[in-house]
Amino acid sequence: MKNGMIIHPGELSKKWIDRLADAGIDTLGIHPEGGAGAPKTLARLLELLKTPEYRALIDYAKSRGLKIEYECHAAGYLMDKSLFADHPEYFRMNSEGERTPDWNFCVSNPDALSLFAKRAAELALALYGSGKDFYFWMDDGRGIHCNCPECRSLTPSDQQYIALRAALCEIRRHIPDARMAYLAYIDTIAPPTVSHSDSGLFLEYAPFEKYTARGDDREERIAREKAMIAPLLDYFGRADAKVLEYWYDNSLYSRWKKPPARFVLNENAMVDDVREYREMGFSRASTFACFLGEDYEELYGEADIIPFAKAFE
Ligand SMILES: [Zn+2]
Repeated sequence: MKNGMIIHPGELSKKWIDRLADAGIDTLGIHPEGGAGAPKTLARLLELLKTPEYRALIDYAKSRGLKIEYECHAAGYLMDKSLFADHPEYFRMNSEGERTPDWNFCVSNPDALSLFAKRAAELALALYGSGKDFYFWMDDGRGIHCNCPECRSLTPSDQQYIALRAALCEIRRHIPDARMAYLAYIDTIAPPTVSHSDSGLFLEYAPFEKYTARGDDREERIAREKAMIAPLLDYFGRADAKVLEYWYDNSLYSRWKKPPARFVLNENAMVDDVREYREMGFSRASTFACFLGEDYEELYGEADIIPFAKAFE
């Protein structure tokens, strides 16, 4: 299995790059912070990517053999909310039947879908040094899909699928062999119901609920997870399937509030998880490793990432 670690844009440093490359890790992921602020943090990343200093860091990471991936909640950035005043029909209908620009958009509106796709292609081309796998996730939350009369028969998974397929088709006009991650997470954990053939989408499974569930028996959880994951793997295929994990996500363990908490790795759980994922047929896994940057080091010293690399040997 290939492996990767994902950090926040502001945490990227020569030291982090050397740490990853020295440990033999395959991929450096960059993730602008999610939640309601995601459109702004993605816009800030794009500004950073124009600077020679940041580009030099990305170049250095590539020279050390790391593959670069950008993973972000992109829908709020890609669908320009200022269009709401003139085109409320581009935006989602909430469960009260009102159009709102709060999250995502209406995937049944062809103009909205086409705008979204064009912006997605611009974004793909602006991600300096990126590999050909793109991670333009829909907005971050629960119950934030469109409920308009045309979208009502589409599940949140269908809506994500339609948006990402449109984005990928547009991106492929510029980058013919591009691929796009379908994020299976919270509302999109069931496979889409729309049929597909060779969509160019690959599965990215994020077991977020594992970290929020309480008093869970591990065996029961794994059995439940396997039952949930099998239809996803059947739908998207196993060859490129990826896990998005939280083993080193010190932003989660710090409840996304600075200063960072002291990070304690649950190494046994991670090793068991990697084995399970491998048996299920996943071919790669990345873990968030946010809140382990310079401010963390000043407080607690350097986080040890060797156990992560070893878990994949
Ligand atoms: Zn709709």
